[in-house]
Amino acid sequence: MTYTSVDAMPNAHSHAFQRDLRGIGERPSDPADDFWTWRTEMFGLAGALTPETMADVAARTYREMRAAGYGAVGEFHYVIHQPDGTPYEQPNVMAMTVAEAARAAGLEIVLLPAAYHRNGWDGADRPPAPGQRRFCDATVDAYLERVDALRAWAADRDGVHVGVAAHSVRAVPAGWLRAIARYADEHDLVRHVHAHEQRRELAECAAEHDGATPIALLHDTGFLGPRTSIIHGIHVSDDDVARLAETETIVVTCPTTEGNLGDGHLPALRYRDAGVRLAIGSDSNVRIDPFEEARELETLARRERQTRAALLAHYGDLWAELVANGRASLGLESTPAARIAIDREHPQLAGVADADLPRALVTAASSAVVRGPA
Ligand SMILES: [Zn+2]
Repeated sequence: MTYTSVDAMPNAHSHAFQRDLRGIGERPSDPADDFWTWRTEMFGLAGALTPETMADVAARTYREMRAAGYGAVGEFHYVIHQPDGTPYEQPNVMAMTVAEAARAAGLEIVLLPAAYHRNGWDGADRPPAPGQRRFCDATVDAYLERVDALRAWAADRDGVHVGVAAHSVRAVPAGWLRAIARYADEHDLVRHVHAHEQRRELAECAAEHDGATPIALLHDTGFLGPRTSIIHGIHVSDDDVARLAETETIVVTCPTTEGNLGDGHLPALRYRDAGVRLAIGSDSNVRIDPFEEARELETLARRERQTRAALLAHYGDLWAELVANGRASLGLESTPAARIAIDREHPQLAGVADADLPRALVTAASSAVVRGPA
């Protein structure tokens, strides 16, 4: 057996529990099945979770993640309270549970508790639907107090880190974005937010904020910057891309989930040309395979402009580029990445010359070539 070791991939965006929508999320339902009908299904799954079942699904998801070649996970965490919205006796029990599951699976974890307050805006804050109550806090101070407590809990735990997140500009008002950005600045934390995944989100944001796009609003509220990651960033204008470039914000793309949900195409080459860093995430965990995410990213970029000179040609070692950007997205850039052993004799890689290996990893391989931690 011949092995080579490479850095494990950071998974910059995961919702561990959504793994259990596999199959279920594909059942025939609404003839106009789209992101929004899928979301209703996901709310049903989230509504039934208990700390025990959350521990179970997180353990299964994270074991699969570690075996597939991921070494760290950013868990974008929003199933927080009891189903009716009442906090648990230990208000961070769900986050603690997923952190413990990640550590048991051998993954480093960055918990990204997500602020959530409302079900959008229609002239006023629209109150949460019943399925959303357990995601929500009444005030941003209540959210930040819980983050304080979680940071204190994580402080003496090896491999457990805490950042902050706003679920989306749909889920929180502008004042919350400002407060979260300020808190992240004060404590030097990474901050994440879903943005520009669906066109409807852009229309709602424009209606609420004088025509602003979510990225323009995030810019105005001080949310963007080198420690910030925008999750998805699909439906973007040239001005949006320029704002991300100028603030050195990272874009986390989740190709297999975005394809599964029918979100649209990431304009990867526009980001490349503007110098915006790209990282990857497994998001809904319908697939857990960093090689597949990297390959989809590359081949979608080639189709975008009908060229083979896309990301791989530009970066040379696309795997290493995605590792570096993923670690920056999660605030782990100053610590060494975990390593994984690659089986050079696996049929997917047999006969590939050493010099070609970085190129073969992102075009010809899957997680089947991973033989475990190195
Ligand atoms: Zn997500």
